[in-house]
Amino acid sequence: MNDTTCKLLVIGAGPGGYTCAIRAGQLGIDTVVVESEKPGGTCLNIGCIPSKALIHAADTYETVARAADGKASLGISTQKPSLDFTKTIAWKDDIVRRLNGGVSGLLKRAGVRYVAGHASFHDGKTVEVHTTNGVQLIHAETIVIATGSAPIELLSLPFDGRVISSTDALALAEVPKRLIVVGGGYIGLELGTAFAKLGADVTVVEATPRILPQYDGELSDPVARRLRALGVTVLTSAKAKALVAEGTALLIETADGGQTTLEADKILVTVGRKPATSGFGLELLDLDMDGPYIRIDDRCRTSMRGVFAIGDVTGEPMLAHRAMAQGEMVAEIVAGHRRAWDRVAIPAICFTDPEIVTVGLSPSEAWDKGLEVKSDLFPFKASGRALTLDRDDGFIRTVARADNHVLLGIQGVGPGLAELSAAFSLALEMGARLEDIALTIHAHPTLSEGFHEAALKSLGHAIHV
Ligand code: FAD
Ligand code: NAD
Repeated sequence: MNDTTCKLLVIGAGPGGYTCAIRAGQLGIDTVVVESEKPGGTCLNIGCIPSKALIHAADTYETVARAADGKASLGISTQKPSLDFTKTIAWKDDIVRRLNGGVSGLLKRAGVRYVAGHASFHDGKTVEVHTTNGVQLIHAETIVIATGSAPIELLSLPFDGRVISSTDALALAEVPKRLIVVGGGYIGLELGTAFAKLGADVTVVEATPRILPQYDGELSDPVARRLRALGVTVLTSAKAKALVAEGTALLIETADGGQTTLEADKILVTVGRKPATSGFGLELLDLDMDGPYIRIDDRCRTSMRGVFAIGDVTGEPMLAHRAMAQGEMVAEIVAGHRRAWDRVAIPAICFTDPEIVTVGLSPSEAWDKGLEVKSDLFPFKASGRALTLDRDDGFIRTVARADNHVLLGIQGVGPGLAELSAAFSLALEMGARLEDIALTIHAHPTLSEGFHEAALKSLGHAIHV
């Protein structure tokens, strides 16, 4: 057995693990990262990047298809487009391949040793890695667990080719004619919308009374309206029960307690993700857990000295940028810097149509905390920029303390709003007040003026609404 030692060993090269390893390498720490699949993890290979590529392709196709149907209001007409989905998938795969190479290059440049293989714990200082060249034993002073998460499989609907996970959905050979999406959350709606735009007949089955239950109705309503316009059927308070008709149809319990059966070519199950905590000897460490997740403190330390955990394996929010921020922080802690998790807010974006952006507290979350707040919104119906984009659905909303006007939260829903998340996060992280936003010149014509106007409205002197 091949033996290696290092100061820092990172298990998993997803956004959390590779960021941690790169930063550690920059800081001169002798670092090894072990990855059983491809560099970049879920996000790069089967998550954020391929899904956003598919969403972009679907948006483009739908825009052209709408023009061909004479439904575009811009005076543009064209022939009915055709879709070579194999080429779409190949384009998406090429983006992923280029970024895989990018992550490998960055690790190399930082002096990180990359070991391709499956790691499992011997103890809190030693890991065994099964590589194509045999077994390697790695001894480390510090270990970071960054093993990520995996899709939840429903007992009654195991993944089997017709019942598929998000990973399968991102690698389909063709657009399914009839697609049922079980779970109207982030993944179900991002991918469900994309497939609807690509021509699939999509039905969303959501167990709660509303799609995107993690957001308030004000934010999810524009998405629900757009789904209706795209011809997507949304069944809320509905539960997927089992496959029937020799596996070709799904039995659904509807809101009124009745049952209905829907034929489907593919059934995409997106009911959440579970942390990757089994299959690599984690139980030998007997770490304290927080439900299914590894319990961490404000420095991402686990209950065992010298063992850290970051990213999805540590719980919600399961977002790539949270994993990256944790990874960077842990590398600096290992290098002896005084760091602790002190971020005011973690932005979240749902890449639906329109996109939803949230940072900090919603009005109801603030009220639940007993805070007295001023909250106002600027509707895109009053935005010149939104009208020039032919998309006036949505708004930007600010939530500020009533007493000193410090912003507690900013939310928005609108076309391409994802890019505004940085302005929202910065405002919260810098402790901005409504007056700071009001006194900042926002360029015209942009959707960002909605942020300015929402703040002005809260101060009682909006100009454009
Ligand atoms: P992961 O990215 O899951 O990486 C963990 C890595 O560890 C994997 O590569 C795995 O192979 C490896 N590993 C596990 N066990 C071992 C072992 N024993 N030995 C060696 N290697 C091991 N988040 C966003 O912020 N924005 C988005 O737009 C977004 N879109 C998404 C779309 C989809 C379809 C999905 C599924 C997820 C999306 N996410 C998005 C979530 C995001 O992908 C995750 O939050 C992020 O990847 C978590 O990073 P991580 O480093 O914790 O884990
Ligand atoms: P989710 O938690 O966003 O949504 C799951 C949905 O399934 C919920 O609305 C839930 O009520 C519903 N559900 C649960 N059981 C059900 C059942 N039996 N029948 C019908 N509906 C059921 O989970 P997800 O969409 O799988 O995404 C997982 C995680 O991945 C997210 O929490 C997020 O952290 C991450 N993600 C982020 C992005 C992004 O940042 N844009 C995109 C995709 C995924």
